[in-house]
Amino acid sequence: MSADIISVLPDAVANQIAAGEVIQRPASAVKELMENAIDAGATFIRLIVKDAGRTLIQVVDDGKGMSPTDARLCFERHATSKIRSAEDLWRLNTMGFRGEALASIAAVAQVELKSRREEDTMGTVIHMEGSQITSQEPCAAPKGTSISMKNLFYNVPARRNFLKSDGVEFRHILEEFERIAFANPIIGFSLYHNGNEMYRLEAGTTEEARASLRQRILALYGSPFNQRLVPVDEDAGIVKISGFVIKPEFAKKTRGEQFFFLNKRFIRNAYLHHAVQTAFEQLLPAGNFPGYFIFLDVDPKTIDVNIHPTKTEVKFEDERSIYAVLRSTVKKSLGQYNISPTLDFNQEMSMEIPYLSKDTQIRQPEIKVNPEFNPFKSGGNSGVVSHDKFREGNNQQNWETMFSQHMHKRNEDLPPVEVIPDVQTQLHPESNDNPVSESSSFWQLHERYILSPMKNGFLVIDQQRAHERVLYENYIQGIARQQAETQQKLFPDTVEFTPADAQIVESQLTALQSIGFDIHPFGSNTFVVHGIPAGTEKFETPQLLEEVIATFKENDQELHLKPLENIARSLARRAAVKPGKHLSTAEMQSLVDELFGCEQPGFCPNGKPVFVNFPIEEIDKRLKRS
Ligand code: ADP
Ligand code: MG
Repeated sequence: MSADIISVLPDAVANQIAAGEVIQRPASAVKELMENAIDAGATFIRLIVKDAGRTLIQVVDDGKGMSPTDARLCFERHATSKIRSAEDLWRLNTMGFRGEALASIAAVAQVELKSRREEDTMGTVIHMEGSQITSQEPCAAPKGTSISMKNLFYNVPARRNFLKSDGVEFRHILEEFERIAFANPIIGFSLYHNGNEMYRLEAGTTEEARASLRQRILALYGSPFNQRLVPVDEDAGIVKISGFVIKPEFAKKTRGEQFFFLNKRFIRNAYLHHAVQTAFEQLLPAGNFPGYFIFLDVDPKTIDVNIHPTKTEVKFEDERSIYAVLRSTVKKSLGQYNISPTLDFNQEMSMEIPYLSKDTQIRQPEIKVNPEFNPFKSGGNSGVVSHDKFREGNNQQNWETMFSQHMHKRNEDLPPVEVIPDVQTQLHPESNDNPVSESSSFWQLHERYILSPMKNGFLVIDQQRAHERVLYENYIQGIARQQAETQQKLFPDTVEFTPADAQIVESQLTALQSIGFDIHPFGSNTFVVHGIPAGTEKFETPQLLEEVIATFKENDQELHLKPLENIARSLARRAAVKPGKHLSTAEMQSLVDELFGCEQPGFCPNGKPVFVNFPIEEIDKRLKRS
């Protein structure tokens, strides 16, 4: 018997290990397969997904196809037609060049590949299982390649269990799909999920890159985006910059539309993001993120794309110069757009017209009108009404359980108490004693905090967090009692979402309705809103909903909240007064009263303290009075 203990891992095992790097989740397989289709020169690419990629991911292209031998070889590790030597690495302009993707996919899923080159009469079909070819036969096939992978991670249960909910995984897939679709506007794409066509993006009809990018953005994000885009354009030798930034007034409070494409490939780059952020600096309200679709073209020799296995991170040779060029280019574009607001306004109006479809809202002074809408159809027209559509049995029980669980839970998962909000009892009597003449006992500090004296010191209350707490508890109670208040709109709004967001709205329809949105599907990612939660009238409905959904997504990824609680939190976050808002004494008074009427006045729904108490002894101590 030999004493040697080292053995080379069988290929299948080695591939499985390597696969973990490349294929982390269904979305990574989607990315690799779609990028291969693009490299193969496809003009139309179909993505077919079942159960968020768990059951099936299939990519069908009309590209150059593979010979029967290549079709077998492509599953070998380091099998690639894209480089011949290490030197080629520097010249590469294609998407992938590591020859690892298909090997990895074949290691963790059951794969079928069908392919035919234009010059061949017959195609070839291969089946693979556990990195082994189980069959290969000639077959009839259209020109191009179709790769389907079934039961991802069927042989790696640990990984399979690691997958998140279908909702989360599918969102990742949509994200990859969107990035690739934006990066390649002259290629057509479609996406099917569980048999439904979710997207059909026609190949760009124009050779002009910017025009086809604009078409693609509108196709993915809806026609309202047309008036939000400001072109950016610069050729500075070391880098060519093109694409669009989103006008500052449409910036969002959450990260959303931030896309850099380097040589037509989506990348993340915090440094370059910073360049754009600073270019926007004076124009964005605090806490808002700029939106952009920026294409950078550089000589591939000056970048190293291969530092990250999934290739969304890159290293530039001359990062500083690119930073400087990018910042000044964005600044210049924003400047041009800002110079003549009146002119720009007129341009927008005329630009918007061709994009009005039958169900687009038409802008008139002050009110919004949907030409399709018949105000007499649905009865009520205006005024606050109690939302009682969903009173029936089942739901009521759910809500009651949720409500009581919620209240218990809150007590348990409060953060460690540093600032003990022990003032509830002290504050109430005081404000009740003196409701009117007390009006001088609130001061606003930096349009951000409310100062209020108490018997034994004073309180510093964070106005935004206080309001968030008040709204949140109102919503939760409204939901629990099925009495969320809705402010009916005289004219309903139609709101168009991106397909990804439309899916979320659809799945959270009941939650949105029970919190006071009178919202219903209106076909093709559009919803009609007849009413909004009372107290949110000052917001533009589309923006309010967009922001609620954006916050919902963030919460959904980071916290495990019940959908209703998440919606309530998101809406409270969006609707609460923000720093910078001047409050009258009466407003402060009523906010503070409402706050201390809450179950949990001390903490914002996200767990952060709402106020700090400065006891007089503490002040004495600091002043060395005692
Ligand atoms: P890489 O893309 O890094 O070369 P992959 O494992 O993704 O590695 O693919 C291996 C090879 O298989 C590619 O280099 C290409 O020659 C071939 N191939 C993969 N997908 C396709 C496709 N859709 N059409 C034509 N050829 C393909
Ligand atoms: Mg590849």
